Amino acid sequence: MSWRERFPGVSEAEWRDWRWQHRHALRTPQALARVVDLTPSEERGLAQTAATFRLGVTPYYASLMDARHPFCPVRMQAIPVADEVSCCEGDLRDPLGEDGQRPVRAVVHRYPDRVLFLVTDTCSVYCRHCTRRRITGGEEGPFDRAAAEEGIAYVRARREVRDVLVSGGDPLVLGDDRLGWLLGELRAVPHVQILRLATRAPVTCPMRIDDALARRLRSVKPLFVVTHFNHPKECTPEAQEACERLVDHGVPVENQTVLLRRVNSAARIIADLNHRLLSWRVRPYYLHQGDLAAGTGHLRTPLACGIDILEALRGHTSGLAVPHLAVDLPGGGGKVTIQPEYVLPEAPGSHRGAGSGGTWFRNYVGKPYHYPDPPETDCSCPYDEIFYAGKEGRPQPGA
Ligand code: SF4
Repeated sequence: MSWRERFPGVSEAEWRDWRWQHRHALRTPQALARVVDLTPSEERGLAQTAATFRLGVTPYYASLMDARHPFCPVRMQAIPVADEVSCCEGDLRDPLGEDGQRPVRAVVHRYPDRVLFLVTDTCSVYCRHCTRRRITGGEEGPFDRAAAEEGIAYVRARREVRDVLVSGGDPLVLGDDRLGWLLGELRAVPHVQILRLATRAPVTCPMRIDDALARRLRSVKPLFVVTHFNHPKECTPEAQEACERLVDHGVPVENQTVLLRRVNSAARIIADLNHRLLSWRVRPYYLHQGDLAAGTGHLRTPLACGIDILEALRGHTSGLAVPHLAVDLPGGGGKVTIQPEYVLPEAPGSHRGAGSGGTWFRNYVGKPYHYPDPPETDCSCPYDEIFYAGKEGRPQPGA
């Protein structure tokens, strides 16, 4: 069913206006019931989560839902079910331990050379798997200009910060002027080398990405947009136009997928999604194991699921389509990446005695291969001192 049939009386101009999409977001069970046939589990989820997490779906994202099938991947990401109310073992309010690493309200400073910069607590769609739902649920209240100024002052004072990831909430709910001011202030900090902007707008409200915004983002280059497609059903012509507009304006786009049980927990889905994204020049970057955010346990997969997906991708398709499988360690330990084990503990039976030293591997179809050790093992780089001491007489990187 097209959006015109689902939202009769809406003009093309209104539909393509991102502010109209935000103003008309579906925020009640009654509004959603006009778009899909709600199941008893969804009705219970909607009633019981009303007090714990926001509900909001842009008409555009709602128009992608299968009205009849409760396992529609778009529906599962945006409509709560009864399971969202139950807690699982290990669930955490702040799964990544961010609150203990927030020197000021807008900044999470966990890693040595980069910070997360929170600019808003709102989004155009509230994802049921949101890891930062303590913030996007409205518990903390909005981020005002004073919070942003305090965050900018923090970044300015910390010379080790060379990378700022602007996030929230979704920074693209802000208007161009407010966003432009913030990015301009961060760009003006001499030691900040790169900016990143995390947004689901290309997925949930692609009309937000217009030429004016793309020009603004380009004006603070180098800035990378990090978006969040989870399923090929989200790869619409509108989403393609949004991503390609950014890339055409010189703004690189990367994608982070969250692995969600029964939404995208199959190699075929992830491969298809990544192939589509690559054809738009969007680079699949991370495949995230679900965090332990309270209320999301029913959407989490066992670790083996992600490893099996990587096993099915690596070698079988281009490396560009194979993301890093990442686990953000509970409590604030930071990200680690995992992959199938390709190193064999010993030479396989038929090769015993062959190739002493070195390492035995299995390749992507399970065949054994030997990689011998090199003749020398000293890996220090003698030219380093000349290059980094500036003795070459040329400008140094980052100078
Ligand atoms: S867009 Fe991002 S921050 Fe907003 S609800 Fe979805 S996952 Fe959470």
